[in-house]
Amino acid sequence: MQCPLLYRFRVIDKLPEKPSEAATRGTLVHAVLERLFDDPATERTAGRARALVPGQWDRLLESKPQLTELFAGDQEGERLSRWLVEAEELVERWFTLEDPTRLEPAERELFVETELESGLRLRGIIDRVDVAPSGEVRIVDYKTGKAPRPEYAEGALFQMKFYALVIWRWKGVVPRRLQLVYLGSGDVLTYDPVEADLERVERKLLALWEAIREATETGDWRPRPTKLCGWCDHRAVCPEFGGTPPAYPLPVALTERPADPAEGGQGRMGPV
Ligand code: SF4
Repeated sequence: MQCPLLYRFRVIDKLPEKPSEAATRGTLVHAVLERLFDDPATERTAGRARALVPGQWDRLLESKPQLTELFAGDQEGERLSRWLVEAEELVERWFTLEDPTRLEPAERELFVETELESGLRLRGIIDRVDVAPSGEVRIVDYKTGKAPRPEYAEGALFQMKFYALVIWRWKGVVPRRLQLVYLGSGDVLTYDPVEADLERVERKLLALWEAIREATETGDWRPRPTKLCGWCDHRAVCPEFGGTPPAYPLPVALTERPADPAEGGQGRMGPV
Protein backbone atom coordinates (compact mmCIF):
# COMPACT_ATOMS: atom_id res chain seq x y z
CA MET A 1 0.00 0.00 0.00
CA GLN A 2 2.90 2.35 0.71
CA CYS A 3 5.14 1.75 -2.30
CA PRO A 4 5.04 -1.17 -4.77
CA LEU A 5 8.76 -0.90 -5.52
CA LEU A 6 9.61 -1.06 -1.83
CA TYR A 7 7.52 -4.24 -1.61
CA ARG A 8 9.54 -5.70 -4.48
CA PHE A 9 12.88 -4.81 -2.82
CA ARG A 10 11.80 -6.37 0.47
CA VAL A 11 9.79 -9.39 -0.57
CA ILE A 12 11.15 -10.42 -3.98
CA ASP A 13 14.76 -9.13 -4.06
CA LYS A 14 15.04 -9.60 -0.27
CA LEU A 15 17.51 -6.71 -0.07
CA PRO A 16 18.91 -6.35 3.44
CA GLU A 17 17.82 -3.43 5.61
CA LYS A 18 19.77 -1.91 8.47
CA PRO A 19 18.19 -2.11 11.92
CA SER A 20 17.03 1.32 13.05
CA GLU A 21 17.16 2.73 16.58
CA ALA A 22 13.46 3.63 16.45
CA ALA A 23 12.26 0.22 15.25
CA THR A 24 14.50 -1.63 17.71
CA ARG A 25 13.29 0.56 20.57
CA GLY A 26 9.75 -0.42 19.53
CA THR A 27 10.66 -4.12 19.72
CA LEU A 28 12.24 -3.61 23.15
CA VAL A 29 9.24 -1.72 24.56
CA HIS A 30 6.86 -4.39 23.22
CA ALA A 31 8.95 -7.09 24.91
CA VAL A 32 8.79 -5.25 28.26
CA LEU A 33 5.02 -4.70 28.08
CA GLU A 34 4.49 -8.35 27.23
CA ARG A 35 6.82 -9.62 29.94
CA LEU A 36 5.27 -7.41 32.64
CA PHE A 37 2.09 -9.50 32.60
CA ASP A 38 4.09 -12.50 33.86
CA ASP A 39 4.18 -10.73 37.24
CA PRO A 40 1.25 -10.80 39.69
CA ALA A 41 -1.17 -7.91 39.04
CA THR A 42 -0.18 -5.92 42.13
CA GLU A 43 3.49 -5.92 41.10
CA ARG A 44 2.89 -4.45 37.64
CA THR A 45 4.16 -0.99 38.50
CA ALA A 46 5.93 1.62 36.40
CA GLY A 47 9.11 1.08 38.42
CA ARG A 48 9.01 -2.65 37.78
CA ALA A 49 8.44 -2.07 34.06
CA ARG A 50 11.38 0.37 33.83
CA ALA A 51 13.57 -2.13 35.64
CA LEU A 52 12.77 -4.76 33.01
CA VAL A 53 14.24 -2.66 30.17
CA PRO A 54 17.98 -3.51 30.50
CA GLY A 55 17.35 -7.26 30.87
CA GLN A 56 15.00 -7.36 27.89
CA TRP A 57 17.61 -5.46 25.84
CA ASP A 58 20.17 -8.14 26.72
CA ARG A 59 17.73 -10.85 25.63
CA LEU A 60 17.09 -9.04 22.36
CA LEU A 61 20.83 -8.79 21.70
CA GLU A 62 21.22 -12.52 22.39
CA SER A 63 18.56 -13.39 19.84
CA LYS A 64 19.75 -10.81 17.27
CA PRO A 65 23.49 -10.15 17.75
CA GLN A 66 23.48 -7.94 14.62
CA LEU A 67 21.74 -5.25 16.72
CA THR A 68 25.14 -4.38 18.25
CA GLU A 69 25.71 -2.53 14.93
CA LEU A 70 23.25 0.10 16.13
CA PHE A 71 25.69 1.43 18.69
CA ALA A 72 28.95 0.77 16.85
CA GLY A 73 31.38 3.61 17.60
CA ASP A 74 29.53 4.58 20.80
CA GLN A 75 32.71 4.06 22.88
CA GLU A 76 31.47 5.70 26.07
CA GLY A 77 28.05 4.06 25.82
CA GLU A 78 26.36 7.48 25.97
CA ARG A 79 24.12 6.94 22.98
CA LEU A 80 23.04 3.53 24.28
CA SER A 81 22.26 4.95 27.76
CA ARG A 82 20.17 7.75 26.24
CA TRP A 83 18.34 5.26 24.04
CA LEU A 84 17.58 2.99 27.01
CA VAL A 85 16.25 5.96 29.00
CA GLU A 86 13.97 6.85 26.08
CA ALA A 87 12.67 3.27 26.08
CA GLU A 88 12.04 3.53 29.83
CA GLU A 89 10.12 6.78 29.36
CA LEU A 90 7.89 5.17 26.73
CA VAL A 91 7.21 2.23 29.04
CA GLU A 92 6.38 4.61 31.89
CA ARG A 93 3.98 6.64 29.74
CA TRP A 94 1.93 3.50 29.19
CA PHE A 95 0.84 3.70 32.84
CA THR A 96 -0.91 7.01 32.12
CA LEU A 97 -2.98 5.28 29.41
CA GLU A 98 -3.77 1.84 30.81
CA ASP A 99 -3.68 0.19 34.21
CA PRO A 100 -2.03 -3.24 33.98
CA THR A 101 -3.00 -4.06 37.58
CA ARG A 102 -6.61 -4.23 36.35
CA LEU A 103 -5.91 -6.12 33.13
CA GLU A 104 -5.57 -9.85 32.61
CA PRO A 105 -4.90 -10.33 28.89
CA ALA A 106 -6.35 -13.43 27.27
CA GLU A 107 -3.42 -13.46 24.85
CA ARG A 108 -0.14 -11.65 24.29
CA GLU A 109 1.80 -11.63 21.01
CA LEU A 110 -0.90 -13.82 19.51
CA PHE A 111 -0.10 -15.33 16.10
CA VAL A 112 -3.28 -15.36 14.03
CA GLU A 113 -3.86 -16.89 10.63
CA THR A 114 -6.77 -17.58 8.35
CA GLU A 115 -7.49 -18.43 4.74
CA LEU A 116 -10.13 -16.48 2.84
CA GLU A 117 -12.53 -18.24 0.48
CA SER A 118 -10.38 -17.07 -2.43
CA GLY A 119 -7.43 -19.00 -0.97
CA LEU A 120 -5.61 -15.84 0.12
CA ARG A 121 -3.90 -16.54 3.44
CA LEU A 122 -3.71 -13.76 6.02
CA ARG A 123 -1.55 -13.80 9.10
CA GLY A 124 -0.25 -11.44 11.72
CA ILE A 125 0.80 -11.04 15.34
CA ILE A 126 -1.49 -9.15 17.72
CA ASP A 127 0.16 -7.45 20.70
CA ARG A 128 -2.67 -8.12 23.16
CA VAL A 129 -6.15 -9.61 23.19
CA ASP A 130 -8.50 -8.88 26.10
CA VAL A 131 -11.71 -10.82 26.57
CA ALA A 132 -14.42 -9.35 28.84
CA PRO A 133 -16.52 -11.64 31.08
CA SER A 134 -19.33 -11.05 28.55
CA GLY A 135 -17.11 -12.64 25.87
CA GLU A 136 -16.49 -9.37 24.03
CA VAL A 137 -13.04 -9.20 22.44
CA ARG A 138 -10.72 -6.19 22.40
CA ILE A 139 -7.61 -6.13 20.23
CA VAL A 140 -4.80 -3.87 21.44
CA ASP A 141 -1.69 -2.74 19.59
CA TYR A 142 1.12 -0.63 21.07
CA LYS A 143 2.85 2.02 18.99
CA THR A 144 5.99 3.74 20.20
CA GLY A 145 5.46 6.65 17.80
CA LYS A 146 2.97 9.51 18.00
CA ALA A 147 -0.72 9.28 17.16
CA PRO A 148 -1.53 10.32 13.59
CA ARG A 149 -3.48 13.48 12.86
CA PRO A 150 -7.23 12.72 12.60
CA GLU A 151 -7.14 12.79 8.78
CA TYR A 152 -4.62 9.91 8.85
CA ALA A 153 -6.39 7.82 11.51
CA GLU A 154 -8.06 5.65 8.87
CA GLY A 155 -4.66 4.46 7.59
CA ALA A 156 -3.55 3.64 11.13
CA LEU A 157 -6.72 1.66 11.77
CA PHE A 158 -6.31 -0.45 8.64
CA GLN A 159 -3.86 -2.77 10.40
CA MET A 160 -6.31 -3.20 13.28
CA LYS A 161 -9.21 -3.93 10.95
CA PHE A 162 -6.97 -6.45 9.20
CA TYR A 163 -6.47 -8.27 12.53
CA ALA A 164 -10.20 -8.02 13.23
CA LEU A 165 -10.95 -9.59 9.85
CA VAL A 166 -8.54 -12.46 10.57
CA ILE A 167 -10.18 -13.12 13.95
CA TRP A 168 -13.66 -12.88 12.44
CA ARG A 169 -12.85 -15.34 9.66
CA TRP A 170 -10.89 -17.59 12.02
CA LYS A 171 -13.16 -17.66 15.09
CA GLY A 172 -16.43 -16.26 13.73
CA VAL A 173 -16.35 -13.36 16.22
CA VAL A 174 -16.17 -9.68 15.29
CA PRO A 175 -13.97 -8.00 17.91
CA ARG A 176 -15.96 -5.41 19.85
CA ARG A 177 -13.15 -2.86 20.00
CA LEU A 178 -9.85 -2.09 18.28
CA GLN A 179 -7.43 -0.06 20.36
CA LEU A 180 -4.18 1.62 19.35
CA VAL A 181 -2.05 2.81 22.25
CA TYR A 182 0.42 5.52 21.20
CA LEU A 183 3.20 5.67 23.76
CA GLY A 184 5.06 8.42 21.87
CA SER A 185 2.31 11.00 22.34
CA GLY A 186 0.24 9.43 25.13
CA ASP A 187 -2.90 8.90 23.06
CA VAL A 188 -5.34 6.05 22.64
CA LEU A 189 -7.25 5.59 19.39
CA THR A 190 -10.23 3.24 19.45
CA TYR A 191 -12.67 1.97 16.88
CA ASP A 192 -15.64 -0.37 17.20
CA PRO A 193 -15.87 -2.30 13.93
CA VAL A 194 -18.97 -3.79 12.31
CA GLU A 195 -19.11 -6.60 9.77
CA ALA A 196 -19.42 -4.15 6.84
CA ASP A 197 -16.05 -2.56 7.81
CA LEU A 198 -14.36 -5.93 7.72
CA GLU A 199 -15.97 -6.90 4.43
CA ARG A 200 -14.56 -3.66 2.97
CA VAL A 201 -11.09 -4.56 4.26
CA GLU A 202 -11.43 -8.02 2.73
CA ARG A 203 -12.31 -6.55 -0.67
CA LYS A 204 -9.38 -4.15 -0.43
CA LEU A 205 -6.98 -6.99 0.43
CA LEU A 206 -8.19 -9.07 -2.49
CA ALA A 207 -7.65 -6.12 -4.86
CA LEU A 208 -4.23 -5.51 -3.33
CA TRP A 209 -3.26 -9.14 -3.74
CA GLU A 210 -4.42 -9.08 -7.37
CA ALA A 211 -2.18 -6.04 -8.01
CA ILE A 212 0.75 -7.82 -6.31
CA ARG A 213 0.16 -10.98 -8.35
CA GLU A 214 0.09 -9.00 -11.59
CA ALA A 215 3.21 -6.99 -10.76
CA THR A 216 5.03 -10.21 -9.76
CA GLU A 217 4.29 -11.68 -13.19
CA THR A 218 5.11 -8.61 -15.22
CA GLY A 219 7.96 -7.23 -13.11
CA ASP A 220 6.26 -3.83 -13.27
CA TRP A 221 6.80 -2.47 -9.76
CA ARG A 222 6.40 1.30 -9.66
CA PRO A 223 8.00 3.59 -7.11
CA ARG A 224 5.50 5.67 -5.16
CA PRO A 225 7.48 8.46 -3.53
CA THR A 226 6.16 9.99 -0.31
CA LYS A 227 7.80 11.64 2.68
CA LEU A 228 8.36 8.09 4.00
CA CYS A 229 11.16 7.75 1.39
CA GLY A 230 13.33 9.50 3.97
CA TRP A 231 13.28 6.25 5.99
CA CYS A 232 13.71 3.91 3.02
CA ASP A 233 16.95 1.90 2.96
CA HIS A 234 16.77 1.43 -0.80
CA ARG A 235 17.09 4.96 -2.16
CA ALA A 236 20.44 4.08 -3.80
CA VAL A 237 18.63 1.60 -6.11
CA CYS A 238 15.40 3.58 -6.51
CA PRO A 239 14.84 5.43 -9.82
CA GLU A 240 13.16 8.25 -7.88
CA PHE A 241 16.56 8.97 -6.38
CA GLY A 242 18.64 8.37 -9.51
CA GLY A 243 19.32 4.68 -8.76
CA THR A 244 18.84 1.54 -10.84
CA PRO A 245 17.06 -1.49 -9.33
CA PRO A 246 18.90 -4.83 -9.47
CA ALA A 247 17.99 -7.21 -12.33
CA TYR A 248 14.53 -8.65 -11.70
CA PRO A 249 15.11 -12.12 -10.24
CA LEU A 250 11.85 -13.73 -11.44
CA PRO A 251 10.78 -14.79 -14.92
CA VAL A 252 8.72 -12.06 -16.55
CA ALA A 253 5.45 -12.85 -18.34
CA LEU A 254 5.65 -12.07 -22.03
CA THR A 255 2.45 -10.90 -23.67
CA GLU A 256 1.72 -10.34 -27.32
CA ARG A 257 1.07 -6.67 -27.90
CA PRO A 258 -1.40 -5.57 -30.55
CA ALA A 259 0.11 -4.45 -33.85
CA ASP A 260 1.18 -0.80 -33.75
CA PRO A 261 1.34 0.93 -37.15
CA ALA A 262 4.03 3.27 -35.81
CA GLU A 263 6.24 0.21 -35.30
CA GLY A 264 5.73 -1.08 -38.85
CA GLY A 265 2.47 -2.86 -38.11
CA GLN A 266 4.16 -5.83 -36.40
CA GLY A 267 3.11 -7.11 -33.05
CA ARG A 268 5.99 -7.77 -30.69
CA MET A 269 6.61 -9.66 -27.51
CA GLY A 270 7.59 -7.78 -24.45
CA PRO A 271 7.00 -7.35 -20.78
CA VAL A 272 3.88 -5.34 -20.02
S1 SF4 B 1 12.78 5.46 -1.92
FE1 SF4 B 1 10.55 5.83 -1.82
S2 SF4 B 1 9.82 5.46 -3.91
FE2 SF4 B 1 11.86 4.53 -3.74
S3 SF4 B 1 11.50 2.40 -3.15
FE3 SF4 B 1 11.84 3.54 -1.28
S4 SF4 B 1 9.77 4.12 -0.61
FE4 SF4 B 1 9.60 3.54 -2.76
